[in-house]
Amino acid sequence: MHFRTRAIHVGQEPDSATGAVVPPIHLAATYVQPAVGQWGPYDYSRSGNPTRKVFETTLADLESGCGALAFSSGMAAIHAVMMLLEPGDHVLASWDLYGGTYRLLHRILSRNKIEATFAPSDNLERFAQAIRPNTRLIWIETPGNPLLSITDIAACAQLAHQHGALLGVDSTFATPVLTRPLELGADIVMHSATKYLGGHSDVLGGALVVRDPELLQRLWTIQNATGGVMAPLEAFLCSRGLKTLELRVREQCQTASILAQRLAEHPRFRRVYYPGLPTHPGYAIACRQMHGGFGAMISFELDSTPEQAKRFVQSTQIIQLAVSLGAVESLIELPALMSHASYEPAERAARGISDCLVRLSVGLEHPDDLWNDLTQALQKALE
Ligand SMILES: *Cc1c(COP(=O)(O)O)cnc(C)c1O
Repeated sequence: MHFRTRAIHVGQEPDSATGAVVPPIHLAATYVQPAVGQWGPYDYSRSGNPTRKVFETTLADLESGCGALAFSSGMAAIHAVMMLLEPGDHVLASWDLYGGTYRLLHRILSRNKIEATFAPSDNLERFAQAIRPNTRLIWIETPGNPLLSITDIAACAQLAHQHGALLGVDSTFATPVLTRPLELGADIVMHSATKYLGGHSDVLGGALVVRDPELLQRLWTIQNATGGVMAPLEAFLCSRGLKTLELRVREQCQTASILAQRLAEHPRFRRVYYPGLPTHPGYAIACRQMHGGFGAMISFELDSTPEQAKRFVQSTQIIQLAVSLGAVESLIELPALMSHASYEPAERAARGISDCLVRLSVGLEHPDDLWNDLTQALQKALE
């Protein structure tokens, strides 16, 4: 079956008690046991919940995994992966990275003697040089955040496995519609379900998918012991989101590529970062590992003062000033002051996140309405 058919049907059997076409939301916290010491399929909702299971089953299928785990947020999912590590272990991470992941590694896990270094994963030679004898996990994001850098997943999987490390991929920006990291050799794929999977800016969630049942069991044990599980209503909303995921993502990609083209041709927008532009350094790899689209995130630098860039993102009318991404409504933000404010300023500068860098999450509005909004905001910003 094709992706979009599986997104609607796998794991989504009609309710056996009532015949309801949509599986119900199971709110029960606990389940009757057959006898003392005997366990039914569910016993306590932290350890397993039927509504969560539906979402996990569909997502595991879409990512070609053996199973999935749904978490209360993307950060809870990433934290569970980091809990696989022991004091003294080293994580090598992309440096074009979600701000929250940087903060988790840099400020929280460092206290537990888990070392992290950040290196450019879109430059494999430099990335490989940052591997250490105690590297146990390589963590990449592709397309990266906020510079939309492209990392070769298959090459990183090889690199990780040569050194006895796991490869984890934060695939939030790509979604399983465009890229399936487990098929390319990754061990763990992670999503902030808050973004495209949910798709409507009304749910906070995260997920992990793996292809090795033993790794799934280890992660389940961590999740069950630490408790950051996805709640039933959120699981229901994420399941509903998956059903339209492919349609949304394909349409959003198309709009993004129109806008990226127009931005690249406009003299006041310089340095347009979009992997679907042939001038993007990761274009060839993106063509190989992203199927039928290059994502719906665009970053660009305004040829302006930082003050004008601020005015620009505050002057759009349809496009709303907010962090987050991947929803039906378009969102705009300034990474230096918003999504990546947790980076040290020097670190930000070293990575090329300038104060005039704008990040745009392209939604499902008409491309012309979005373009008109961007150009009127530019006019206001430069007045
Ligand atoms: C939002 C996001 C996260 C964190 O997810 P939450 O659901 O906000 O906890 C991680 N990685 C990427 C790429 C994200 O965009």
